[in-house]
Amino acid sequence: MTNPTIVWLRRDLRLADQAAFVAALAQGGPVIPVYVLDDETPRHRRMGGASRWWLHHSLASLAASLEAIGSRLILRRGRCEAVLAQLAHETGARTVHALHHYEPWWRMAERAVGKGLDLRLHHGNFLLPPGTLANGSGQPYRIYTPFWRASLLHLPPPPPVPAPGHLPAPATWPVSEHLDDCGLLPTAPDWAGGMREEWTPGEPGGRARLETFAGRARRYGEERNLPAREGTSRLSPHLHFGEISPATVWHAVGGAGGSVDVFLSELGWRDYAQNLILQAPDYGTRNGRAAFDAMAWREAPAELAAWQQGRTGYPIVDAGMRQLWHTGWMHNRVRMIAASFLVKHLLIDWRAGEQWFWDTLVDADYGANATNWQWVAGSGLDANMFVRIMAPLVQSPKFDAAAYIRQWVPELAHLPDGEIHDPSGLARPRGYPARIVEHAAARARALAAHGAMKEGE
Ligand code: FAD
Repeated sequence: MTNPTIVWLRRDLRLADQAAFVAALAQGGPVIPVYVLDDETPRHRRMGGASRWWLHHSLASLAASLEAIGSRLILRRGRCEAVLAQLAHETGARTVHALHHYEPWWRMAERAVGKGLDLRLHHGNFLLPPGTLANGSGQPYRIYTPFWRASLLHLPPPPPVPAPGHLPAPATWPVSEHLDDCGLLPTAPDWAGGMREEWTPGEPGGRARLETFAGRARRYGEERNLPAREGTSRLSPHLHFGEISPATVWHAVGGAGGSVDVFLSELGWRDYAQNLILQAPDYGTRNGRAAFDAMAWREAPAELAAWQQGRTGYPIVDAGMRQLWHTGWMHNRVRMIAASFLVKHLLIDWRAGEQWFWDTLVDADYGANATNWQWVAGSGLDANMFVRIMAPLVQSPKFDAAAYIRQWVPELAHLPDGEIHDPSGLARPRGYPARIVEHAAARARALAAHGAMKEGE
């Protein structure tokens, strides 16, 4: 009988369009799907709380889908290379199939696993394999627009491969840990109620989101910047955990021009972020522009806490930060406003924001988070955007955020549309904080700090 083959799953928790399963099936023997919880080892960036909640449910969903096709999900904890070597020893498996991942810790883990086992890595979590495009001088792209233009020459991606109908099981299954023992869910207190209301982690939940969105993708261009509308896909956590492949998303919405192309170009940002972390593996902690190492960021723990808790006195910022705390997700336009507020109005290091998002987002993604924070801060490998200081009181009416604020900031819910964006001229609504900083003074302070940094360059 052919030896079993291991499929090593990480953030590619799906059956459809999953090249590792396709390759394992082609070997003809039994297939052993395994997830190794390896976020305690020093090389790993430990997953944030919201991601751990998502992971628990995504693994439960994948285990159920595998059982429905005659298979199982084996769950183990520890260092990937040691766990996989042990599993291979127990089962007689010689080959491990997996998808490529680009976080620095996963690349290190792949190198370590590959030393002892026949590890075969496949593509499929991104539209194009990161690291394959180069500009006219043979260098990887640093700027999004030329990157995406070059990507489009190689797209659309191949059509997605359907999920296997059956996976051959080994004669005896190796032992698996119990998901409930992995400590992924919050206890005392259980803060995940809002996330349970909003999300259905797992491949079927991702597919359902995609189906609903595909029907309104045509309106994406008009609605994507309006936080009060469900104008975007909300596929980000499903894409991050690989519950749905980007090729599946591409082919479901169809490349029909207009709004759909705008949407597909956002998927391009997802690919772009992976290309940046390939060039700068420490992008989540180190400024892309060294000049920013000299920036005089403020240590302001009380203001950082007010921002985290949605108590800055700027309704659009507070609504976003509370949406994040409650649901694990924030609308992209509001992410930009809230991030700009932290970095510029409060002059707090972007890394404090990156860390907060890392812990609280269900879509927390090392590449996308670092790329977007550094983009807002101006410290990144792309253009320096620091001097583009968003005015929250202008952004809020411009993007029609009244209903959004009403939903997330109940202290202001009684105010009419004309007043809810800026309640500062009114008798202060009960329970709602005064502004922690004034826009004009904060803007001037930020520009002065940036000017001083530039002078020192
Ligand atoms: P849609 O508008 O429907 O877009 C479709 C998909 O494209 C998204 O699901 C996502 O996978 C991808 N995408 C869209 N915009 C971006 C972008 N700017 N960068 C990278 N990918 C993008 N996105 C994350 O997935 N993880 C993060 O940790 C993350 N951190 C962010 C931090 C800041 C400060 C900012 C400003 C943005 C961040 N984003 C992050 C990008 C973006 O806000 C989210 O991807 C988007 O809001 C997810 O909602 P959606 O699925 O409805 O997006």
